[in-house]
Amino acid sequence: NRQILLVSRPQGAVTPDNFKLVETPLGALGPGQVRVRNHYLSLDPYMRGRMSDAKSYAEPQPLNEVMIGGTVGEVVESNHPAFAVGDKVVGALGWQEYGTSDGVGLHKVDDTHVPLSAYLGVVGMPGVTAWYGLNKIIAPRAGQTIVVSAASGAVGGVVGQLAKLAGCRAVGIAGGPDKCRYVVETLGFDACVDYKAGNLYPDLKAATPDGIDGYFENVGGEVLNATLARMNAFGRIALCGMIAGYNGEPTPITQPSILLRSRLLVQGFIILEHLDVWPEALRELGGLVAQKKLQYRETISQGLESAPEAFMGLLTGKNFGKQLVKLI
Ligand code: NDP
Repeated sequence: NRQILLVSRPQGAVTPDNFKLVETPLGALGPGQVRVRNHYLSLDPYMRGRMSDAKSYAEPQPLNEVMIGGTVGEVVESNHPAFAVGDKVVGALGWQEYGTSDGVGLHKVDDTHVPLSAYLGVVGMPGVTAWYGLNKIIAPRAGQTIVVSAASGAVGGVVGQLAKLAGCRAVGIAGGPDKCRYVVETLGFDACVDYKAGNLYPDLKAATPDGIDGYFENVGGEVLNATLARMNAFGRIALCGMIAGYNGEPTPITQPSILLRSRLLVQGFIILEHLDVWPEALRELGGLVAQKKLQYRETISQGLESAPEAFMGLLTGKNFGKQLVKLI
């Protein structure tokens, strides 16, 4: 069983030598256990937080253990009454070709109408994150303007499309003309601002002539500051991620008094703390994907050994849509 371990903690940016590829023999399957051949690994920005041992909402990933992470795959051996050989399952079996589980946190999925990989993205944790932040925190009304950063990504792409379905004006912020074109032409946002074009605030102002009622934040830093300055009174901000600061870069809020002057509600959230909404959100997202009302895009790197490089790319915007690693 080929596995990737975390062997050191990054100081600043993640480097290849934080990881080590090892080969470990698969032991015999114990009572109540199930063995899964992983087809795809999910790479997600939260993993950067788990790699460091700074205080956070979750325990750090221990050193010299298999990197944590979401997976989808197929049951190849089972001593568990709820799982049979051939079942497709989503779980968190980490960066390895085969995962062995006692069944906790493993869920059967149906890949007849929704492709298996989508259970790691639009019909998985990132999709539920988008659904929760938009519906439960921003709670948009038709006609309002909703802005989302990292708009072409796994979470951001869903936020804007759900906002459109709710009758809102959806405006994305993304890095580069290709991502912005995709956000408007394929995902159907009303506008997308390229924050790398050097004209962030004026471009955002032009794209939000009526101001911003709801902001779904994935990035932080200059993007947050520009958006805060466009928020309407009593606007709501779902603080989902601040990827611009994940390597320790400072991301100050330059004018905190805007929060008071505009009477803004800012709510941070961690989606794993809201397991109660997952069934409803997944049902809705799965239905929309099956009806082709929700578009998504994936960047797929090939082979377990490609995971560290692909993960470093995710943290610098090289991915375009949901970043996956394909194992078979
Ligand atoms: P994405 O698919 O959006 O990929 C990350 C994107 O972030 C990149 O493509 C890039 O897009 C952008 N990015 C990377 N570095 C920077 C930077 N320095 N400055 C600005 N943008 C940057 O990832 P996800 O959709 O999986 O995650 C999006 C956000 O949601 C993350 O912040 C993540 O931590 C957060 N999240 C939070 C959860 C929660 O429970 N709170 C759960 C899941 C995700 P571009 O090229 O457009 O800049």
